[in-house]
Amino acid sequence: MEPSRTAVFLQPAGLQHRYIRKKHALSDIVERPERLRAVCVGVAAAIARLDAREVRRDNKTTLSGAEGSTVAPLKQGTIADDLVNALDRLHLQAAASGAPAQAQAPQESVVRLVQSRATLDIYTHPAVQFVHGEDPTLPTSKGYLRDLGSWCATSQEKINEGGSEIPPGYPQGDLYRTIDAIASAAATVCEAVDMVTNENDTSPRRAFVAIRPPGHHCSDDVPSGFCFINNVVVAAAHAHLQHNINAVIILDIDLHHGNGTQALAWSINADTDRKDLEEDARAAAGSSLGQPESAKRGLKIYFGSLHDINSFPCEDGDAELVQAASTSLHNAHGQFIENVHIEPYESEEDFYARFYDKYKARLLGKAKAFLDAVKATPKGTIVLVSAGFDASQHEHSSMSRHSRFLPTSFYTRFARDAAAFADQHAEGKLVSVLEGGYSDRALMSGAGAWVQGLADAGLASTNTTEEDGQWWDAKDLAKVKYHHLP
Ligand SMILES: [Zn+2]
Repeated sequence: MEPSRTAVFLQPAGLQHRYIRKKHALSDIVERPERLRAVCVGVAAAIARLDAREVRRDNKTTLSGAEGSTVAPLKQGTIADDLVNALDRLHLQAAASGAPAQAQAPQESVVRLVQSRATLDIYTHPAVQFVHGEDPTLPTSKGYLRDLGSWCATSQEKINEGGSEIPPGYPQGDLYRTIDAIASAAATVCEAVDMVTNENDTSPRRAFVAIRPPGHHCSDDVPSGFCFINNVVVAAAHAHLQHNINAVIILDIDLHHGNGTQALAWSINADTDRKDLEEDARAAAGSSLGQPESAKRGLKIYFGSLHDINSFPCEDGDAELVQAASTSLHNAHGQFIENVHIEPYESEEDFYARFYDKYKARLLGKAKAFLDAVKATPKGTIVLVSAGFDASQHEHSSMSRHSRFLPTSFYTRFARDAAAFADQHAEGKLVSVLEGGYSDRALMSGAGAWVQGLADAGLASTNTTEEDGQWWDAKDLAKVKYHHLP
């Protein structure tokens, strides 16, 4: 079997991040530690399925030498056994309790599992500072990180005193528990960026990073929608600062608009654009520093989002937020932004007949135009995906109250298309990061379908359509018993 081309990062520190205002608050708060468990079940299912297919393919080739033999579909009865075996390799609990965890899955797996223990210091880490820091020469700059650290440090005390851990004036629906989980989440996305930019042939080029808290609603200095540090923009900054990547494509497929990501991308692009214009002026005046090319290599970000325009943060119809979530602005003022609204469909066939190609053409077509406009090179480009699964057809009805869904097969299909785009334009470099997704079924099916799509994109054995969604019917998902963490 070929070396794993896809990695899944698990970060047990995310389990420490808990709602603390009420003792029995699970029914009130949907962004809970158990989300990671549901993601693991979905990832395990995808790995079991992919590995079983590859093993059968290898056996078939070995036994008969028949290249291109039809791969028999998995029998439904084998799912439970494969799933249990794959779950054994996830070790989330063991890693959380400090017990030794294996670094990665056996090499024969189609997917490499990484039990990350990465962490960082939010006050000194260059990428976190670039995005949320206090250096006035950086594009986004306030005293936010110090405030965040102090809110986390005093959260329990404030709750015990009957107050809120969040200062007045900030969204009160959030939770603050531990800066460790927040820092570890950001560190793990940076670790994934390090892996996919590693030019060693055996290093995976695609990653899915299962972390919490999520990040895409957090702007430079306002935590929002369960998000405290914008993980995906930190990944962009890290790719830029550590790996000389100047063109970053961010695709956001969460149900909710990634308003924080868009605002940060705007600030960063505006800063780069201003510096480019200054350099142009210096060159025109003959006082260029003699390095115009390198001077014009600031970070440029394309942000393309598919979301429900009626849901958070636009639920109350706030004009500014609704307009931001509907912006389509390309190569003007240094900005490259495309917002696509999810539309209702009648059936899966109807979704693919009327919408899928349209969404893909807008999100990836504009991404390609961005790369052309900024004269990006494949080496200097990376694709990042804010992979939320709350637009899934299996999300809680309370979350999907505006009836905008995506079929589970969307996640497999779009993962393949995003990976193919990265192969073509970014030397394959793609890091996807967990954002939303709240019901166990949405997370299991969505994360599983996503990893399946990443892992089998471009493989000769990929069976593009008929297997999609087969495992993810509600009746199949219902077979998976779900256990809450103790
Ligand atoms: Zn969301």
